[in-house]
Amino acid sequence: MIVYRHTVFGNPIAHSKSPQIHQLFAAQHGIEIDYTRTLVSTETGAFAQAAQDFFAQGGCGANVTLPFKTAAYEFCQTLSDEARAAGAANTLIRQADGTILGHNTDGIGLVRDLTEHLAQSLRGKRLLILGAGGATRGIVLPLLARQPESITIANRSPEKAINLAKQFQVQAARFDELNSGFDVVMNATSSSVSQDLPAVSAQIFSGCLMAYDLFYAPEPTRFMQWASEHGAAQTADGLGMLVGQAAAAYEAWHGFAPDISPVIKQMKQEIAA
Ligand code: NDP
Repeated sequence: MIVYRHTVFGNPIAHSKSPQIHQLFAAQHGIEIDYTRTLVSTETGAFAQAAQDFFAQGGCGANVTLPFKTAAYEFCQTLSDEARAAGAANTLIRQADGTILGHNTDGIGLVRDLTEHLAQSLRGKRLLILGAGGATRGIVLPLLARQPESITIANRSPEKAINLAKQFQVQAARFDELNSGFDVVMNATSSSVSQDLPAVSAQIFSGCLMAYDLFYAPEPTRFMQWASEHGAAQTADGLGMLVGQAAAAYEAWHGFAPDISPVIKQMKQEIAA
């Protein structure tokens, strides 16, 4: 039986759930994979060397996490539209001619979680994204592909939101001018990492159908609780996005689209245990 070799590169990497998630996909698919974690030094050139060695030794696809997504983007010979838009690659795919294609599946993962697992249609909806860092850069293009009525990006440092809004031809707003009028609110700031809340009015949740925190934790995040208390009909954290981005990578490598819902449920139980 063929055993397909995969890894996830990062630093730190011991915490990564990717090996477990991909083994659950392989079990659905009925194939065998060997999926490892690779700790890479942050010295200049170390990522490119590690990636080159992995593919030279027969690896067929890899994931990339912090802080190497930009180095991965620079390493690849070709890039998907999503990777180009994000300026970052989280998935490396060895092609038939041996060259490496860089892809970014973070936004695809978020959209799959929202639309498939959480059954939230995005078509014709007014979307608000808080934050203008790497995560936001990766999610705007796949969100636009779902034909929302509008996307507004707001950031604590407003110039970053203005720049991203120009790049994607969407709207920008300052934190202090946000009010009601959004169907889906996404927290793509890293405020939840320190259990902070972004300094915006709770009015943004008035009439809101879904408040989604890209961060995930064993318990509902402070942002999710705050959103529920102020009118959001439904809330979710970013565990489904994590599983969704892994599923899109798996599909790019193996041509098989895993069912994400049972994997999200299982990972949720394990994180809570
Ligand atoms: P970046 O460091 O690239 O960007 C951080 C962003 O958060 C900036 O816009 C920054 O604003 C803003 N920010 C930080 N602290 C605060 C605060 N206290 N109040 C308001 N804004 C704040 O991070 P990423 O974009 O890579 O990640 C953002 C979040 O998304 C993280 O929580 C991360 O865990 C999550 N994520 C989840 C994924 C998943 O699969 N579930 C995948 C990728 C990311 P400013 O510009 O003003 O500094």
